Amino acid sequence: YGDDYTRKYFEEIRSNTYGMIKPDGYLHMGKIIDMVYNVGGFTITKLKLCKMSKEIAAQFYGEHKGKPFYDFLLNYITEDYIVGMELVKKDAIAEWRKFIGPTNVEKAKQEAPNSVRAIFGSPTKNTVHGSDCAESVKREIDIVFNQIKHVPMCNNCACVVIKPHAIKEGNAGKIIDMILSAGFEISSMQMFYL
Ligand code: ADP
Ligand code: MG
Repeated sequence: YGDDYTRKYFEEIRSNTYGMIKPDGYLHMGKIIDMVYNVGGFTITKLKLCKMSKEIAAQFYGEHKGKPFYDFLLNYITEDYIVGMELVKKDAIAEWRKFIGPTNVEKAKQEAPNSVRAIFGSPTKNTVHGSDCAESVKREIDIVFNQIKHVPMCNNCACVVIKPHAIKEGNAGKIIDMILSAGFEISSMQMFYL
């Protein structure tokens, strides 16, 4: 960037955040990804489906160690697949937290009925995560995209490619939803630039 003013301007209009579909959102991930694109207007620039080990989860949620819900949270986040996403939009961190709604699902249903947590959450599980500040974005993206080693099953599997035009046209979520609705398990998923 030529100067600080320009840097600030462009960082604001094209900022990133880390969003994550938690294990209770697995079967809804197509619908959630569809909402992310077509309702939220976020661009997904990285995506990875994987599982968190207890060690990774403890690192990811280190700030909550010692709190009464900590053990529950670690069991919750490690019980099945998660989908990690880098999301780009103007003012992405705040916009994403507004889009997912309040942490408490009851509160989300009351105060933000169209939010992801209000629509898909349950009394104890709120379906999605959003980073709280720029430092968390960097830390969380590094954990999920660099530190988690996910090995696909590769036996009795088919490899699916969602082509670029379908993603551009906002159809990726619908295609993922069709795959899950047809009864296939998605055991691995990643976004690539060829
Ligand atoms: P957020 O995810 O909105 O940033 P926190 O960082 O405070 O919220 O908490 C991390 C996650 O821990 C929450 O999304 C939720 O899954 C869980 N959690 C937080 N508070 C509680 C609670 N009181 N009881 C059960 N789970 C909780
Ligand atoms: Mg938090």
